[in-house]
Amino acid sequence: MFNRHFSVKKRGFIADAMLGRLARWMRFLGYDVQYHRDIDDRALVRLARSEGRILLTRDRELTKRFTVEHLLIESEDVKEQIKEVVTLFPKETASRRCMHCNIPLEDIKKEMVQGLVPEYVYLHHRRFQRCSSCGRIYWEGSHTHNIWKILMDLKV
Ligand SMILES: [Zn+2]
Repeated sequence: MFNRHFSVKKRGFIADAMLGRLARWMRFLGYDVQYHRDIDDRALVRLARSEGRILLTRDRELTKRFTVEHLLIESEDVKEQIKEVVTLFPKETASRRCMHCNIPLEDIKKEMVQGLVPEYVYLHHRRFQRCSSCGRIYWEGSHTHNIWKILMDLKV
């Protein structure tokens, strides 16, 4: 249901309401993923079509009712869901995005985050990034460990 000559740089995704965790992790990996918690199927499909986004959904019925480019996600487990997407759409060298705002993160000097992140994080990390929209600061923390392991296993 989608064009194989797809570029994640040029096009993005839109996740259905059941796939919020997947949407957040994909953003962190650099994918452009729209997500709205409260949106009806019709509006979701309209947005996917008008913005040329691939709909990520677990709702088989929805994909039968509407004609829309989509990827039907099989697993309920977010790690498996990431594998399903990344296997079909390998990550390009896109910058990471804010998990909450879907905006590319900016590099920020270490000195700038002193006092804004926990002391042990400041002491043990060198690279920090910030979202210019919400101001959240990101680093290669332990919560990202699992996702890097998945990607290494997939060799993507
Ligand atoms: Zn943000």
